[in-house]
Amino acid sequence: MNKMTYIETAESELLHTYNRFPLVLDHGDGVYLYDTDGKKYLDFAAGIAVQALGYSNSEYKEALKAQIDKLMHTSNLYYNVPAISAAKRLLKVSGMDRVFFTNSGTEAIEGAIKAAKKYAYTREKEAGHEIIAMEHSFHGRSLGALAVTGNAHYREPFGPLMPGVKFAEFNNLESVKALITDKTCAILFETIQGEGGIYPATKEFMKGVRELCDKHDILLILDEIQCGMGRTGEMFAWQEYGVKPDIMTSAKALGCGVPIGAFLMTEKVAEKSLTPGDHGTTYGGNPFVCAAADKVLEIMERENVTAHVKEVAVYLEERLNACVEKFDFLTERRGVGLMQGLVCEKPVLPIVKAALEKGLIIITAGSNVIRMVPPLIIEKEHVDEMIAILEEVLSVQ
Ligand SMILES: *Cc1c(COP(=O)(O)O)cnc(C)c1O
Repeated sequence: MNKMTYIETAESELLHTYNRFPLVLDHGDGVYLYDTDGKKYLDFAAGIAVQALGYSNSEYKEALKAQIDKLMHTSNLYYNVPAISAAKRLLKVSGMDRVFFTNSGTEAIEGAIKAAKKYAYTREKEAGHEIIAMEHSFHGRSLGALAVTGNAHYREPFGPLMPGVKFAEFNNLESVKALITDKTCAILFETIQGEGGIYPATKEFMKGVRELCDKHDILLILDEIQCGMGRTGEMFAWQEYGVKPDIMTSAKALGCGVPIGAFLMTEKVAEKSLTPGDHGTTYGGNPFVCAAADKVLEIMERENVTAHVKEVAVYLEERLNACVEKFDFLTERRGVGLMQGLVCEKPVLPIVKAALEKGLIIITAGSNVIRMVPPLIIEKEHVDEMIAILEEVLSVQ
């Protein structure tokens, strides 16, 4: 089939919930993707921060093939070895004490919310607790995650959503303080807001919220689904801040392509939180997806991916800063490590489309930010290649 036939067929079959770019992707290798016509693309999106190890990593593929031959699924009525191994590695790199594996990011958020509510319920023997989330946040599309997502457009059609959620202004400690009541059980935010436009939490905000949480026995939940797994040069972005969350979420790059997420907590929370009967999933943490996460974590640790990210990110930032200098309509570079945004005074969608034409995959965050979340294995030469195409595209805007 040719590309247009694929696209027309897809549009007649699949529910129209995405305005997809006209690309039919076929295979990938390293930091490059190839479409069904054989056209090559340099990928600075990584399937939205998922393909941290790039494409077609042979060690990863071998581990998955071996697990397919052994065992795919068991249900959570029994134990399985890959889940035990993946959990051990994840707890080690996160410094958390307990983990629950989910199938996606949004389910990790659902679990984190339930864990926080149960913790408060255990303490007070009554329900009805509140959560403080942030404006312009993104936590997923299921109804609980939607309820804490600070984007009215996403939420509007689906109300009434879970009650008891209040939205503060991100990085404004006073606005958080003003919303705290004796019913508040958790404060939730992304360490670096992703969809909202690549806004890192400030150190003052992070420390301030942690202090508020300690003072009022409120749980701090950090969403590390996009910014975690080595992307910032730390395994988890919060590790740079000198504070620790009580609950955190992971997904996206955790499986590098297989659907797995997780919510993790400290022992202090676990002791008073979810117990048998409170939460569950059929697929979650099955041997296949856990073999993937286990291998991803093994490779990241052995190859010291965070050190590589730190190094290449300095160069990426330098080159992006130069772009901001060069083009008047670029006002700012924002981000940490290999999670970067270019703030643009023009609409960014035409820029992203023009880049695709020229063989560069970049994405948007909000309506005016160009987002780059490349595979963590990129080298300086890939940064140069990206900048060359980007400048070519920006020159004709
Ligand atoms: C992608 C994302 C989610 C949702 O993850 P899904 O796997 O799409 O459900 C939640 N939070 C953040 C910060 C994300 O980037």
